Amino acid sequence: MTATTATRVLVLNSGSSSVKYQLLDMADGARLAVGLVERIGETSSRLAHTPAGGARREREAPIADHEAALKAVANELASDGLGLDSPGLAAIGHRVVHGGQKFTAPTVIDDAVLAEIERLVPVAPLHNPANLTGIKTAQTLNPDLPQVAVFDTAFHTTMPEHAARYAIDTETADEHRVRRYGFHGTSHAYVSRKTAELLDKDPSEVNVIVLHLGNGASASAVAGGRCVDTSMGLTPLEGLVMGTRSGDIDPAVIFHLSRVAGKSIDEIDTLLNKRSGLIGLCGDNDMREIVRRIDEGDERAKLAFDIYIHRLKKYIGAYSAVLGTVDAVAFTAGIGENSAPVREAAVTGLEELGLALDAELNAVRSDQARVISPQYARVAVAVVPTDEELEIAAQAYALVSP
Ligand code: ADP
Repeated sequence: MTATTATRVLVLNSGSSSVKYQLLDMADGARLAVGLVERIGETSSRLAHTPAGGARREREAPIADHEAALKAVANELASDGLGLDSPGLAAIGHRVVHGGQKFTAPTVIDDAVLAEIERLVPVAPLHNPANLTGIKTAQTLNPDLPQVAVFDTAFHTTMPEHAARYAIDTETADEHRVRRYGFHGTSHAYVSRKTAELLDKDPSEVNVIVLHLGNGASASAVAGGRCVDTSMGLTPLEGLVMGTRSGDIDPAVIFHLSRVAGKSIDEIDTLLNKRSGLIGLCGDNDMREIVRRIDEGDERAKLAFDIYIHRLKKYIGAYSAVLGTVDAVAFTAGIGENSAPVREAAVTGLEELGLALDAELNAVRSDQARVISPQYARVAVAVVPTDEELEIAAQAYALVSP
């Protein structure tokens, strides 16, 4: 009898009050369990766990902290025979939002790596502390299991200095690590590679503009498999109009709101990150609802949609210029994968850039990667479902498998 090879990877995405997780088997890519713990630290905490081929189980009971949350997750997995101590588990892959300039690839976590993630807290105060808590808790539950950090910023570390630097005083920028890092990198990496596959090409042979349009949204320009520019910057606030974030604004808006409206820095931070974008413009951040309201003649929803599309088109144009030649534009994430009206509006009028849509193909609903441009179009327009968990698991597994 041969010993069982460990092929399973638990992917953890630890937020400030939530933990999302998936257990994947890298032998065949199967998803063995998916789940979510929400409202950690509140009395109304909730855990939802769905094993492959089984019924969804929900538990509502107070979960005090991340340790209690991960223990609850471990218990759910154990009751499916997939506990954290099972020999089939090869690693835990952690999504870590900010890896700074240093982490250019997934990394097996040791004390030095933990210290570096900690050092990056000032540039990612909302995300890295929660990621660190997730890692440290997972380590206590099974100290022998390899833990791998997969960084949202890693794919963007190939950006040239002229794209990564802001045009501000160099000493100040360097002292405070102020530069453009970009986020959603795992998704941009996965989708740009899948787009090349869809075109039957090697990633090194194609230039792709990836539009990751979820509640958070970012665009990237990927030349021959390497990121050369991306729309998010020091934080995820820069770039496209998002569900609740403004994206690009004149930085002087902040001085103005401080000096003239008397708002504090924290209030402006909340305004731009949580009460701007689609929700700030029209009160809704669900694109389905916005499109429905437009169909009913709602002017505010229409203006919010138009602002969203205008910004998107500007980035498609800018990244066409950055890349020189574009082989494909790929739409991904909740809105990119599902909203035919957004894809149509974003591409309309960009014929000079080689973009066109086939209306019938654009209207098809599918969870498969697909081309939605007509054959004659110079640039392929594609819908490519993202899968950040699979990519995190694959990267973590590649690092620890024998
Ligand atoms: P995130 O991971 O950033 O939370 P997702 O990639 O899950 O976001 O995308 C969530 C968004 O996708 C929702 O806010 C909603 O606007 C949009 N969305 C989901 N399904 C559809 C759909 N069928 N049509 C249009 N938009 C959709």
